[in-house]
Amino acid sequence: MTAELPAQTDVVIVGGGLAGLAAARRLHRAGTPWLLVEAAERLGGRVGTDSVDGYLIDRGFQVVNTGYPRLSALVDLTPLRLGLFTQGVMVRRGETLHRMAHPLRDPFGAARTVLTGLADAAGVGRLAHTGNVGRVAGGALADVPRISSVGRAGDRLRLAALAARCASYPAGRLLAAPETSTEAALRRAGLSDRIVEELLRPFLSGVFGERELSTSSHVFAMIVRSFARGRIGLPAAGIAALPEAVAAPLPESLIVLGVGATSLRPGLVRTSAGAVRCRAVLVATDPATASVLLPSLGRVRMNALTTYYHSTVEPPLEEPIPLLDGDRRELVANTVVVSRAAPSYAPAGRHLVATSVAGPTAPPEPLVRAELARLYGRPVDDWEHLTTVPVPEALPAALPPQGRLRKPVALGEGLFVAGDHRGSPSAQGALASGWRAAGAINRYLEG
Ligand SMILES: Cc1cc2nc3c(=O)[nH]c(=O)nc-3n(C[C@H](O)[C@H](O)[C@H](O)COP(=O)(O)OP(=O)(O)OC[C@H]3O[C@@H](n4cnc5c(N)ncnc54)[C@H](O)[C@@H]3O)c2cc1C
Repeated sequence: MTAELPAQTDVVIVGGGLAGLAAARRLHRAGTPWLLVEAAERLGGRVGTDSVDGYLIDRGFQVVNTGYPRLSALVDLTPLRLGLFTQGVMVRRGETLHRMAHPLRDPFGAARTVLTGLADAAGVGRLAHTGNVGRVAGGALADVPRISSVGRAGDRLRLAALAARCASYPAGRLLAAPETSTEAALRRAGLSDRIVEELLRPFLSGVFGERELSTSSHVFAMIVRSFARGRIGLPAAGIAALPEAVAAPLPESLIVLGVGATSLRPGLVRTSAGAVRCRAVLVATDPATASVLLPSLGRVRMNALTTYYHSTVEPPLEEPIPLLDGDRRELVANTVVVSRAAPSYAPAGRHLVATSVAGPTAPPEPLVRAELARLYGRPVDDWEHLTTVPVPEALPAALPPQGRLRKPVALGEGLFVAGDHRGSPSAQGALASGWRAAGAINRYLEG
């Protein structure tokens, strides 16, 4: 059935991802007439979930960060029933799994370690964390030995100081600091080569979608800020519940699915279902489409992320904590038992493991599986490979200079643009840019 479009409205929003939806929320609140056209048959853009044989398969592993200010301003997170991940990460180095606590919650704690080698030999390489002691599955409680740590002496305190600065300084102060690559900022903060390679590069590669850490230090500071201030988790119904929650207060009659904008000029949007006249146009598509509809924007370089989803009966870790590769193998960015955080992600009796790889090349699954055996320190031959989700255009590559992470949203003549390429490359950046663009549109229409 062809969608019926009105001949005219005040604002046409092109794209129903987080940016377009946040803009619609602000226009709606102000009483500005608007219409949103979305090319796909669902809202959410890069944030989506497929339900497959009892598993919730997000379209690439991504998390809700409760520390995102625009998110908490727009959405009551309680009904999402977030399954939270443990704060901190585990790091595999050789035979040892190291627990790295959240730097602000436990700045003085040495990495707690658990020797898994012996347990692995016995085929019981799982562990659970209970304060300062670890439980090796099938064995008795044992004091966790401090065998070695991740990084060098002093790194943890420097990391804690960095996180404390990012959490407590006003955002404006962080964004006024000299801007470099993230790699240069880590060196400037006095962090050793070891902590960068064993912890920060694998961790950040999963966040940025690139291993070089060429992403702007301003983006890095804001990401650290939200990790330091908030918790990460997954909605019980899958990550798609996030855009659904942003869209919930909006009237369905103003949102048209399955209709893409084909071209536009000031005052007119042509779509696959006809043309709509308007006073302002907001392009809130993915960056590649935005640069086609608005050629003056130019192409935005994108970073890629690929997620491998496996199903297993025995969870390789007893708790929902991301596991990083501290052995510099440069393949897996992180792996996590998502069903430990949100049990609804897997059917009864099964667990879902999501493994992220950063970069344009998605390695073959058997290669990833071999890495998983090493990382978790146990055989994974019986794991079922459910699917691989490559997202070649996952996140804008936010190289310096990004300035104050507020690229212009008003392009003149009633044309506006929003999306994660106008702010930080994240859900927060997308939401904030949409909110900002709608504010600019309201002012334009009043003027
Ligand atoms: C694998 C992966 C992991 C991620 N992890 C995280 C994470 O952990 N934390 C985080 O904060 N962020 C993460 N992100 C980034 C986050 O998902 C994005 O920054 C955000 O969703 C971008 O929203 P957007 O509205 O700017 O763009 P999009 O989501 O791309 O939305 C654009 C919309 O426009 C529509 N559209 C395109 N062309 C047209 C057209 N011609 N007409 C009409 N509609 C059109 C598209 O269908 C889409 O719905 C991740 C992204 C991926 C892919």
